[in-house]
Amino acid sequence: MLPVNEAETIIFNLVPPLDSPSNTEIVDLLSARGRILAAPVTSKLDFPHWDNSAMDGYAVRYEDVKNSSRENPVVLEVIGEIPAGYQPKLSLQPGQAARIFTGAVMPEGADTVIMQEVTQRQENRVLIQAAPKAQEFVRKRGSYYQAGDKLLPDGMMINAPEMAILAAAQCNQVSVFRKLKVAIFSTGDELVTPNQPLQPGQIVDSNNYALAALVEQLGAEVLMLGIVPDQPEALRKTIATGIENADIILSSGGVSVGDYDYVEEILAALGGEIHIRAIAMKPGKPLTVARFSLSNYRHPIYFGLPGNPAAALVTFWRFVQPTIRKLSGLTDGWQPVWIRAKVPQELRSDGRRESYIWGKLNLVDGVYEFVLAAGNQVSGNLINLAHTNAFAVLPVGQKMVLAGEEVMVLQV
Ligand code: AMP
Ligand code: MG
Repeated sequence: MLPVNEAETIIFNLVPPLDSPSNTEIVDLLSARGRILAAPVTSKLDFPHWDNSAMDGYAVRYEDVKNSSRENPVVLEVIGEIPAGYQPKLSLQPGQAARIFTGAVMPEGADTVIMQEVTQRQENRVLIQAAPKAQEFVRKRGSYYQAGDKLLPDGMMINAPEMAILAAAQCNQVSVFRKLKVAIFSTGDELVTPNQPLQPGQIVDSNNYALAALVEQLGAEVLMLGIVPDQPEALRKTIATGIENADIILSSGGVSVGDYDYVEEILAALGGEIHIRAIAMKPGKPLTVARFSLSNYRHPIYFGLPGNPAAALVTFWRFVQPTIRKLSGLTDGWQPVWIRAKVPQELRSDGRRESYIWGKLNLVDGVYEFVLAAGNQVSGNLINLAHTNAFAVLPVGQKMVLAGEEVMVLQV
C-alpha cells in the first residue's frame, strides 16, 4: 500500500494548472470575486494620479515657512480654497497660502502642506506655527505605483483587496480562468435518494450531497450524475459521460474488491491510466486515481473515493481539494494547510496506517488546540463530523498522543 506522502506527490503531479488563453474568460469586475486571475494586471495610470494633499490644512511654498515656529510664526495671505475633486484655478506667489482639504489637488506654486492643527486663521491670513519638512503631507503623483507597473500576478484569487486594486486600476473587465467542471456520482445497489422510502437493506446516499457542497465551495461547477447501480454497463456509461463533460470525476463506493466492484476494470477499458489503487491511510484506504488522455488533448482525472461517508470526506479533503485548487489555476495556496496543535485529551491509533482523526481546531489564548469530535470515529459514522474543521494526523507507527502533547493537524 502506498504511503500518503507518496500518493500526494503522484496526485499533485498529475495536474498542471489550467493554461491560458484557451481556458480563460472575461468577466465583469463585480462578478470577479473568488475567480482566479488568468493574466497579470498592470496599471494604466500613475497612482496617485495627481500631486494631492494628505491632510486638511494649507498648501504653501516651503521656502516661505521653513523657519516658522510657535514664537515666530510666518504669516501668509490665504488666496482661496481647494476642495477635493476639482482642478485648482489659483497659483501661489511668495507669501501666499491656499486652504486645502485631504485628497485635493496641489495648486501651482505650492510644494508643501501644513496641517491645520499647527495654524491659526485670522480672516484672510494664516499663521504658520511650526516649520514643516520640505514637501510634507504631499502625496506625489506616481508615488504608490506608476503606469506600466505590475499590480497583481496571474494565478491569484480575487478577494476584497484585489477587487479594490482592480477597481482603482479601472479594470472593469477581468481575465480569469474558467470554472472547473466536476462530475459526481455515487455507486451501489443499496443506495437510495433522501426522498425515497428505505426498503430493508437500503442506505441513503449522503456522499453525493457532501461532495457537491465541497466542490461548490471551491468555486467549481458540479455536474450531478446521480446514483449508479453496481452494474458494469451502467458504470461504464456514467464514467464515460463524466470524462466527456468534466475536468474531474468523483465517484464514491465500489472501489474495494467486493464481487460488485467494477470501477477499476471499467476505467482501464475507457483508456484511463490508473496511478493509485490504495493508500496506507485510515480511513480512506480504497482510493483509486486515474488520468485519461483524450484525443482533444483533455486529461480528465478520476477519483474513486471510498463509499464510507467519513472516508469519502477525508480523502476529498486530503487529495481532491488541493487538486481542484491547483487545477483551477491557483499558483500558490493550493496546498493542504498544516497546523501544530496541542491536544487536551489523548488520541489513539492502531499505528498501522496514517490515521486521520476528526475534531475541532480552536485558538485558545493564541495557541492552537485540537479537540477530538465526540462519539464513534468509525468511517461509516458521519454524524460526529458536524462542527469539525480539522484532522489530527498520526503517522504510521505512532499509536498514541498523550494529553498536553502536540500533533500535526490538517485544516479543512
Ligand atoms: P463501498 O466502498 O461501496 O464498499 O461502500 C462502503 C460502505 O459505504 C458501505 O456500507 C456502503 O453502503 C456505504 N456507502 C457507499 N456509498 C455511499 C453513499 N453514497 N452514501 C452513504 N453511504 C455509502
Ligand atoms: Mg458499494
